Amino acid sequence: MDQIIIQDLSIYAKHGVYMEENILGQQFLVSVYMDLDLSRAGQTDSLEHTLDYGKICHFVTKYMQSHTFKLIEAAAEHLAQELLLTYDPIKKIRIKVKKPWAPIGLPIKNVCVSVDRTRHSVYLSLGSNMGDRQAYLDQGIKEVDALDSCKVCERSAVIETEPYGDVVQERFLNCVIRVETVLNPQQLLEKLHEIEARADRKREVHWGPRTLDLDILFYDHVTVNSPNLTIPHADLHNRSFVLEPLCEIAPWYQHPVLHKTVRQLYDGLAKDDAWL
Ligand code: ATP
Ligand code: CA
Ligand code: CA
Repeated sequence: MDQIIIQDLSIYAKHGVYMEENILGQQFLVSVYMDLDLSRAGQTDSLEHTLDYGKICHFVTKYMQSHTFKLIEAAAEHLAQELLLTYDPIKKIRIKVKKPWAPIGLPIKNVCVSVDRTRHSVYLSLGSNMGDRQAYLDQGIKEVDALDSCKVCERSAVIETEPYGDVVQERFLNCVIRVETVLNPQQLLEKLHEIEARADRKREVHWGPRTLDLDILFYDHVTVNSPNLTIPHADLHNRSFVLEPLCEIAPWYQHPVLHKTVRQLYDGLAKDDAWL
C-alpha cells in the first residue's frame, strides 16, 4: 500500500507520570505512517486527491498540546484513533511517539512506543420495544457515535416489526447502522453492552421485551466464534427485520460464511415466506 510518512515532528507538550512533566512539559517526537491510495494524486498532480501533510502536522501538534496523558502509549493510541476517524482516506496508521528527555537518570537517546491501528467497517442492528422506542434508538446511535473509537457513517430508515420468537410482547422498532471503529470485536461488544445498560436494559427473558438491543451483524469480512460472540450474527439471515434495513444501506455486502449478498439473503427469505 502507498504511504505518507511524517518523521519526528518535534512537539513541546506535557505528557508524563510525574507532576513536573505535566507542569513544565518536554519535547516529544511524533512519527506518523499513513497507508492510503495515492494513485489518483499521482496521476492528477492535484492536492485535493491526497492528504495535505501540512494539515496533519498541525492536527498532531494541536492534539498533543491540548491533551495531557500519563503514558506515551495513551498519547499514541488516542492520536491514532483521532487521525483514523477524522481523515477518511487513511486505511491504516502507525504512530510512533519518542520521548528523548524521559526522566530515567540514564543516558539514552530516547524511548519510543509504536502502535498500529486500522479502521474497521461494522454493521450493527438496533431494536427497541419498550417505552419511547424511537428515543431509545436515537440515543443508542448517538452514544455509539460519541465513543472516541467509533464513528456512525450511515443509518437506515426505522421500520416497525412484529416480535421475533415465542414471547408475547409489543411491536419493535428496528434499524441498522454502519460504523467505522478502531475497536476489536470484543472491545466493541463491551462498549455496546455499556450503552444498553445505560438505556435501562435488563437481561431477563431471552428474546423478551427490551429498551435497547444492539447486535453486531458484520465486522469487516471477519468471522468470530467465541463463547460470548458470534460474527456474523448467527441468525441474521433468518430475520427480515435485520435484512430489510440492511438492504437499504448494504445490499451488495457479501456474507462471509454463506457467500450470498444481503440482497440475495433477503430475497431468499421473502420467497420462503411466500410458501407459508
Ligand atoms: P439474539 O442474539 O438472538 O438477537 P438477543 O439479542 O435477545 O438475542 P441478548 O440477551 O441481547 O440476546 O444477548 C445475549 C448474548 O449474545 C450477549 O451477552 C452476547 O455476549 C452474545 N452475542 C453473541 N454474538 C453476538 C453478536 N454478534 N452481537 C451481540 N451480542 C452477541
Ligand atoms: Ca438481538
Ligand atoms: Ca443482543
